[in-house]
Amino acid sequence: MAHLLIAEDDELLRDALAAQLVQGGYSVACVANGAEARQMLESTRFDGVILDLGLPLIDGMDVLRWIRQRLLALPVLILTARDGVDDRVQGLNAGADDYLTKPFMMAELQARLQAMLRRSRLPAFGGSLEISAAGANKLRVDAVLPRAWLGEDALELTQREWALLSLLVANAGQVVSREDVLTAWQAEAAESGVGSNALEVYVHRLRRKLGESSGLNIRNVRGLGYMLESVVE
Ligand code: CA
Repeated sequence: MAHLLIAEDDELLRDALAAQLVQGGYSVACVANGAEARQMLESTRFDGVILDLGLPLIDGMDVLRWIRQRLLALPVLILTARDGVDDRVQGLNAGADDYLTKPFMMAELQARLQAMLRRSRLPAFGGSLEISAAGANKLRVDAVLPRAWLGEDALELTQREWALLSLLVANAGQVVSREDVLTAWQAEAAESGVGSNALEVYVHRLRRKLGESSGLNIRNVRGLGYMLESVVE
């Protein structure tokens, strides 16, 4: 049974969501603000999150970014206000898997959830994420330890390299912006002032560490950021 976290400050909506999802065969936990959401996510394993973006204490968008830095493969469906087009775009850019605009039909939510959980690359969230290019060594990133392996070999990574690799792996095939990386680094190391030039250096080092056996390449997408892709012969 999939275990879901509902983070929604509107009590009526939260209760209705919980009741519907329990009836739909899910087990659910509910929180009413962003701080509780983070606490809950730190202490409990979930298969998916329904996240309202407008949350008290810690904003839903910040919760989303936090999730994407730590729980790489956790599927997140965001709830946004009807006129919140910017929110929706920002949310998807920040790593939400899907969104629903309020008000929505419960049947639609159920359908989206099912699709999202099916798509999620891990059957049940286990704290690690694997990708493998055809005919190459499997790359595995563990968000809990945090460590990474290429085939059987542990990769020697600095904290920043690890954070960068995690972001790239979690968003493989999509562009990760420079801002996303810098935000992740700040959260990891509680430091700021890292410029784009430094980022280039880290990307270069990470490319070298991944090497040819990974079958993966970190592509520089001009003006946008970086993307992890498989090397096509
Ligand atoms: Ca709200």
